[in-house]
Amino acid sequence: MLRSGVAPFVRWSAPPAVAAGILVAVLGARSSAAAPPRAAPPVDATLELTAACEAGSTEPSALDIALSLPLRGRPVFRLDDEVFGSRGMAALVSSATAVDARGPLALTRRLTAGPTLELAAAREVTGTVTLRYRARSVPVADDGARFGLRHDATGIGGVGGYFLALPESPGDYRVRVTWAPPACPAGTGGEGASTFGGATAETTGGLDELRAAAYFFGHPRVAAADDGDARVRTAWFGEPALDTAAAARWAARVFAAERAVFADDDPGAYSVFVRVLPELGARSNGVGQPRSLVLAIGPAIGFGPRLRTNLAHEMLHRWLGHTLRLAGSSFWLTEGFTVHYAAVVMQRAGLSTPDELLAELNVTATRQFANEYAGASNDEIRRGFFASDALSLVPYTRGALYAAELDGAIRRASHGLRSLDDALRALVREARAAPGRDGLPPEAFRRMVVRELGAAGARRFDAVIERGARPEPPDDAFGPCFTRRPRTVAVYQLGFDDRRSLVAPRAIRGLVAGSAAARAGLVEGDRLLALEPSFLDPDHEAAVTVERAGQPVVVRYLPARPGPRRDGFEWVRVAGVPDARCVPPG
Ligand SMILES: [Zn+2]
Repeated sequence: MLRSGVAPFVRWSAPPAVAAGILVAVLGARSSAAAPPRAAPPVDATLELTAACEAGSTEPSALDIALSLPLRGRPVFRLDDEVFGSRGMAALVSSATAVDARGPLALTRRLTAGPTLELAAAREVTGTVTLRYRARSVPVADDGARFGLRHDATGIGGVGGYFLALPESPGDYRVRVTWAPPACPAGTGGEGASTFGGATAETTGGLDELRAAAYFFGHPRVAAADDGDARVRTAWFGEPALDTAAAARWAARVFAAERAVFADDDPGAYSVFVRVLPELGARSNGVGQPRSLVLAIGPAIGFGPRLRTNLAHEMLHRWLGHTLRLAGSSFWLTEGFTVHYAAVVMQRAGLSTPDELLAELNVTATRQFANEYAGASNDEIRRGFFASDALSLVPYTRGALYAAELDGAIRRASHGLRSLDDALRALVREARAAPGRDGLPPEAFRRMVVRELGAAGARRFDAVIERGARPEPPDDAFGPCFTRRPRTVAVYQLGFDDRRSLVAPRAIRGLVAGSAAARAGLVEGDRLLALEPSFLDPDHEAAVTVERAGQPVVVRYLPARPGPRRDGFEWVRVAGVPDARCVPPG
């Protein structure tokens, strides 16, 4: 998940921060609640899923997919072969067959340069077409896509975008999503569920919503919790090292707090699917969708600040990234504002301590100022988002700091009568009323800034967001208990090319002469056994394990570039202000 090709349905992808466990990603498709009314009535379709066991096993290791819908012409069913940087989705698909009203329908299978798996009808079709195929899953112990189909003794499942081959079809569908009894030995237990509900559910929207949804079968630990009319259902696959019932209660509280910010009274339940993957150790990351999120967590992670922030962040994508987004890419909004709101919503709702908020704010500030690309223009970010790990993090951090600056400016200009919350609620209403699925026009946000702050606000927007100037949140942006003070920060430099070094056979590649890594003793070509990079934090040691004379050797160093430090700032507690007053303005 370190890298992603731009798959058609992936509108946001995870930067390598994923590796550092702060991941954030959104899969496409607007929430159906946000979809504008369209003239044509929805067309009926069916998606049937069957968990399948290999001979003799009672553990499902594949899903049999049957998709039925009326089509015209010579449809082509497509599946991205590379999703969030995970290649090989096509190889997991086998036994594809199709039938329509005229009978069996031959399919031509090819892998395009996309890379995309295409299953193309060999003739014009008539009436309802049913496509069937098997999607194989990867055991959790093996290398595989983090959010693709994975299985263990507790069940099988993943995000649709990794295994659903769908035709391109712009209309709305009313899709019945059903789980058939498992194709497994008698006595194999389990139940199916998806983003849309239980064993049988229905959803109306574009087919891309099927890709953005999650599908799981098995016998997870299930925990549900309500907070007012916010309803959250959680399902945990694997053996999490945390109290799942308490986590579900917490998730309902943060979901309620976020709904309130965006004035969302949709009564539908929100689903959280969690998969334990041994490779993640004590880390986690997730994917946010309009009505659900999927988390991949390590078996050692507890329900601490990192995982809580992860949950709050992915849930926020229901609004920031799905309902509200701008045509083209606007990572500074969909990721940066999400980073900001995850921090302040948790604090306002009493779901984080002042110390936890302070730590989170300083992680964001440090990663911004230590990033060699801190001042990249928005165009450079757009062009290079998928090409550079460090560049892809700039919109998260600079966008978050700009959100804090903008909130302060709106409060000041309105003498405390308005805040960023009000401005975003207005944009969310505008997005809900807008036709089409591509998001608001890019100018919509800037127009909002002009409404709130006049021409001076627009100039700051252009300077910070478009041209990369340093954001300047007011000192009291996070309430009376925190203030900011100047701080110089070293520029982060790992000292070798981690992406190239992690390609098998793993070895140190692209070592920078004179870097902290070289001075600490790393040598070009060293066999690389493990890497804990302290991503974009020059104040925390990187630990690189290499092999020397057949023995593992851990090389530790501060990943800071030699040379002058940069001017930045940090947040500190104001002495004498009690915790009870630490709630940010809201
Ligand atoms: Zn995100």
